[in-house]
Amino acid sequence: MTLPKNIVMIHFDDGYKSVAEYGYSILSIQNMKGTAFPICKWTGIGEHMTMHDLQFLQNHGWSICNHTFSHESMTKISFGRIRNEIAFVLTLFQSYGLTGGMFLAYPRGLYDDKVINIVSKSCLLARTTRGSMVGKDIGRYNVPSVGISSYNQYCEYIEKLEGSNIIILLFHSVGASSKRATNISISDLMKICRDLNKRRKSNQLEVLTMEEYYEQIMKENCDSEYTYIW
Ligand SMILES: [Zn+2]
Repeated sequence: MTLPKNIVMIHFDDGYKSVAEYGYSILSIQNMKGTAFPICKWTGIGEHMTMHDLQFLQNHGWSICNHTFSHESMTKISFGRIRNEIAFVLTLFQSYGLTGGMFLAYPRGLYDDKVINIVSKSCLLARTTRGSMVGKDIGRYNVPSVGISSYNQYCEYIEKLEGSNIIILLFHSVGASSKRATNISISDLMKICRDLNKRRKSNQLEVLTMEEYYEQIMKENCDSEYTYIW
């Protein structure tokens, strides 16, 4: 198997409806798939995706992964609740045929050694955020990502790829409608995806979903050949 030179993943946290409404189409035009981490407690409420939206995305190649049931900071709740927060989502996902429940994104990126100890018993991988990295040791339960809110910010990171790098681009909502600070505009997301596709066509990188990354890279232990950019 030939490994991709660099790996890029496109993550959307918290399950905003705008990801299904705009994000999906923007990525699809460039033949790309993303990974969504919905807050299950909020699915179908207000500006959040429904379970049907999530099924739609998965049916079109996206990974739908675990962001816990209620998005509580895991460093602040009991062991039992951490377990339940993950298990609720696994059960819910199972009943809707969603397959990415074993891949976690820590709510607010928060974790510590105790959290990792519990999470590692039911999850294959856990992702954090740049500002929440504990130390500099990157392992399967402290996978870093970079929050992106503009095309210019994306350019700063993408230019760091040198071969054998992985970067996880983290977004929340898409378009101007949301109050979120980490919102990306439709035009900037289009520019980012166009640029990624161009780089992909010239073999600089491959864009993978979380499940593809696991199947193609981690399962074979090839992830050790890569360094994360964060
Ligand atoms: Zn979140």
